[in-house]
Amino acid sequence: ATTFTGQKVALFGLGGSGIVTARALVAGGANLVAWDDNPESVQRARDEGIVTHDLREIDWSEIASFVLSPGVPLTHPKPHWSVDLARQAGVEIIGDIEIFCRERRASQSNAPFVAITGTNGKSTTTALIAHILASSGRDTQLGGNIGTAVLSLDPPAAHRFFVVECSSYQIDLAPSLDPTAGILLNLSPDHLDRHGSMENYAAIKERLVAGSDVAIVGVDDDFSAAIAERIGTSGAKLVRISKERALADGLFAQSNRIVQAGSTDERTIVDLADHPTLKGAHNAQNTAAAIAACLAVGLSEAEIEDGIRTFPGLKHRMQPVGRRGAVVFVNDSKATNADAAAPALSSFTDIHWILGGLPKAGGITSLQPFFSRISKAYLIGEAAPDFAATLGEAVPYEISGTLDLAVTHAARDAAESTAGAPVVLLSPACASFDQYRNFEVRGDAFVAAVAGLDGVEMLVP
Ligand code: ADP
Repeated sequence: ATTFTGQKVALFGLGGSGIVTARALVAGGANLVAWDDNPESVQRARDEGIVTHDLREIDWSEIASFVLSPGVPLTHPKPHWSVDLARQAGVEIIGDIEIFCRERRASQSNAPFVAITGTNGKSTTTALIAHILASSGRDTQLGGNIGTAVLSLDPPAAHRFFVVECSSYQIDLAPSLDPTAGILLNLSPDHLDRHGSMENYAAIKERLVAGSDVAIVGVDDDFSAAIAERIGTSGAKLVRISKERALADGLFAQSNRIVQAGSTDERTIVDLADHPTLKGAHNAQNTAAAIAACLAVGLSEAEIEDGIRTFPGLKHRMQPVGRRGAVVFVNDSKATNADAAAPALSSFTDIHWILGGLPKAGGITSLQPFFSRISKAYLIGEAAPDFAATLGEAVPYEISGTLDLAVTHAARDAAESTAGAPVVLLSPACASFDQYRNFEVRGDAFVAAVAGLDGVEMLVP
């Protein structure tokens, strides 16, 4: 990172992306001082030659920029102490995506840059866009919230395509975010513990599309629709996306087809009816947004269609992982809130539903329309008593406590099902942190538990 050469930069948060950022800043000649509340992280950074010092003891008047890891609270529930210090000193507070944006501008390469946000569907859309670009032979760099830290990607160049998933925390730390194409998929209450109000959360997400050359906005929820309205009237280039109704302009889903609106040449770009991994209305939203982004960075419709056809899907998202007789086991561990669990619940009947963990605001009351599809629920984690109260008389349930017990009991009950297509579905509608480090570890634990059942045929390695 050369936009900070010779400048004094303070950094807090030496976890995964923090250490990558620290390395990039040092490599670019910044005069960096880094810190973390965890002494082991500090030691690890020190071991590789990064200058570390308690940021409570430095002279903040010399600091040009303060770089914060996205995991560290900027506002809610209250600002981290380092944030208070930076604010008192009047120092800008930024994250790694902001540094990437500055590098990209400094390179004058105008490297095609797609940024993706939304409450649900970010990773699927990001991975789909990267897959379409890579399978069309483009040099494709995939990173951000989905995994690889942006500053460990190859440097910006004119022929190089960047596809970056942005959480609201990352957008909050990227004041000059300016992608070629920016996607806002949808907005529903999530992470309000970290952003305060829904209005604040929506305003942060709006910044990503407001700063884009081409803004791609899902208009099926009221908050996103209002944002599209504002961008439309500002005269910026806007592509509206809908998964449920025909639009006069933009891209929308009709049955399983993604249709490009237009008064003279409305036409189907792709038909998802037999697609193995892009099932459901929510994936129509993701796919339509991906198509719009790929068109915006110059791909042909033929290239886009080819890429979509070969998209293998993502782990932990409605992923069939095993089968025993008629029973299919589905890993949807990524569904960490009620909205994210809805697509899976709407895709099956005779569901043996494993759910629970650390509950989010609102619990599972919004999922009541799907309760008739649930044969039985198996509750795990801290949410169990609350969820049991919501399920009440409407759905048979047991409090299994652990995922292992839930899998064993659900498999036993599902085997006795007389309906057509029983599924054992992990779609927890909760964060995992009460029992697991993250949703990936929880999903892997589910797969391991399924693999441990007698006579099961695994569908994943
Ligand atoms: P994110 O990265 O935003 O958390 P993912 O692409 O990982 O989203 O999908 C997480 C889960 O959310 C999926 O398992 C699916 O059930 C649900 N989901 C995916 N796309 C959407 C969408 N567009 N709208 C609502 N729910 C979705």
